[in-house]
Amino acid sequence: MTTPAPNWHERAATLRIDGRAVIEGQRRDAASGETFACLSPIDGRMLGNVARGAQADIDAAVASARAAFADGRWAGKPPAVRKKLLQRFADKILAARDELALLETLDMGKPIQYSLSVDVPSAARCIAWYAEAVDKVYDEIAPTGANALALITREPVGVVGAIVPWNYPMIMAAWKLGPALAAGNSVVLKPSEKSPLTALRLAELAVEAGIPPGVFNVVPGYGAEAGEALALHMDVDAVAFTGSTRTGRRMLEYASRSNLKRVYNELGGKSAFLVFPDFGDLRRAAVTVAGGMFFNQGESCNAPSRVLVHESIADEFVALVAAQAPKYPPADPLDASTVMGALVDDTQLNTVMGYIEAGRAEGARCITGGRQVRAETGGYYVEPTVFDGVSNGMKIAREEIFGPVLSVIRFETEAEAVQLANNSSYGLQASVWSDNIHRAHRVARALRAGTVHVNQYDEDDITVPFGGVKQSGNGRDKSLHAFDKYTELKTTWLRIDAERS
Ligand code: NAD
Repeated sequence: MTTPAPNWHERAATLRIDGRAVIEGQRRDAASGETFACLSPIDGRMLGNVARGAQADIDAAVASARAAFADGRWAGKPPAVRKKLLQRFADKILAARDELALLETLDMGKPIQYSLSVDVPSAARCIAWYAEAVDKVYDEIAPTGANALALITREPVGVVGAIVPWNYPMIMAAWKLGPALAAGNSVVLKPSEKSPLTALRLAELAVEAGIPPGVFNVVPGYGAEAGEALALHMDVDAVAFTGSTRTGRRMLEYASRSNLKRVYNELGGKSAFLVFPDFGDLRRAAVTVAGGMFFNQGESCNAPSRVLVHESIADEFVALVAAQAPKYPPADPLDASTVMGALVDDTQLNTVMGYIEAGRAEGARCITGGRQVRAETGGYYVEPTVFDGVSNGMKIAREEIFGPVLSVIRFETEAEAVQLANNSSYGLQASVWSDNIHRAHRVARALRAGTVHVNQYDEDDITVPFGGVKQSGNGRDKSLHAFDKYTELKTTWLRIDAERS
């Protein structure tokens, strides 16, 4: 007998939603008693009230994190013990897969099938991977002279403030939590006000796993209130931020106005996807770019939103990309077969529709999509949209749209393609499609981006760094390099005296 497929609407109707903060391992209302309404972008339904954290709540969470750090209840544990507890935390995330996936989908509108198959397992794998790593990294002894010993050790930075966006709420939180906690820090996490629910559950699961109270606190709230209070806090040692370039700028300001805390920014993107005429399988390139662009409703920092295609193959390639669009019909995110869900809220809907209008007004040709759909549901849905005839100076080519809108720009020469790709304030990712190994390497080297893909776009793994250059930020999430953000290098000199016994 086969088990019937879950009915996600029925499960949603009975889901327990708790919007209170988690401080010192306890659920707490905001000190002010204020809340804000958490609405689902699927159909505008009310999910629950969420604590409107502000200065007093951030003060309490930072004090709790500081006390936990200072008394060594976490940082003082042997790495092998932290490993075990973090592995248990990862197991708890996997065990709560259905609940977490449902919360994620209801809260930010992504299709349930991806919350189940991507978001929950990726978050768990991230925590487990750093757990595994932490008792396998060694410190250094410098090659100094015979009468001295110089130890180069890594110490946790202390209290980390993590501020994350709404597009992959759990994964973005896990990318901060994994290395920060494994290294022995205490964390105060401020999730986006647009998608706070899974972060709050993660904090409860961490406590259930045995991670001591105070080590991982979550304060929901608005950016200008809870976010600002956290980033300005004098007792926060580092801010790990993922979000827009606009807010990233503020993070640097907050640090300079407060205690010069370390700031690691993971910001926006406008990634270029370069297709050369010597690439033999244009269909595969078209399927890949559509997949990268329309996954998560186009709300991905690394979406390949600027296609640069050689004039000689442009008509054929654009037709192939446009033919992919109908495979991403916006539909009910709680239906297990849906591949494109709802945009996160009405503000994002208006932003995306505004860009579509701007594209038309500036003379680009909308060859597929371009409309809001399913408005009768009360949710926020936009068709997968492709613009041809875009020039790199247009607003839709320069600014991050963060919705399912692809711009196609044509080029004549390799040098022009590289120049167009690099002519952007962003530098998160890029992709080169060419069967000529010399060109592929040449162009990959010339592109200013944190990651360059060659003849693919979807490879991704916790083992490799993720982050950008230019105004896409300075930090690197994932891989062992992420430990650099959450540890300080300390040098300890010891004298070795040849004479003394
Ligand atoms: P956002 O900058 O509006 O908000 C991000 C977080 O910062 C939220 O928690 C928000 O409450 C908080 N915040 C907002 N204003 C603040 C302020 N004045 N002070 C302190 N905190 C404040 O970004 P968003 O709309 O939530 O997320 C989308 C952006 O995130 C896009 O630009 C996307 O490219 C980027 N992003 C980047 C990566 C990456 O790894 N580079 C990954 C995912 C998303």
